[in-house]
Amino acid sequence: MHNPRTRPKGKRALLGVVDYTLAKRALLREVRVGLRSWADVCDAHPELMRAAKHVGEATRRDCPVCRRSKLVLLAYVYGDSMHQENGRVWPLDVGLSLAADRPGTCCYVVEVCRECSWNHLAEAFMARNAG
Ligand SMILES: [Zn+2]
Repeated sequence: MHNPRTRPKGKRALLGVVDYTLAKRALLREVRVGLRSWADVCDAHPELMRAAKHVGEATRRDCPVCRRSKLVLLAYVYGDSMHQENGRVWPLDVGLSLAADRPGTCCYVVEVCRECSWNHLAEAFMARNAG
């Protein structure tokens, strides 16, 4: 029996994905019921805010906190082969390409609100080892 042919979807097809939606929902719930303050969760580092402004990839999703702005996405790539560029912020497509080309690296996608500084890990893409 043959498996149906799957069409690779560009670089993303090479990457394993971890979704952080549940962790994010849990955090937002904690704020809503008063276990955390909005100031605790809207704490984006100035450098992250600057990157969000310049290289953030626009989404059509409203900020879950202030709803005054659309979220933007940024990528961080970590891995031995990244050398001095380890942990740098990249535009989303660049970060995904870097991780896809380097087994053992991980690309973390962070969503950021440019209005209220909300930020949270959205997804992590792990390069699959070849073979
Ligand atoms: Zn916001």
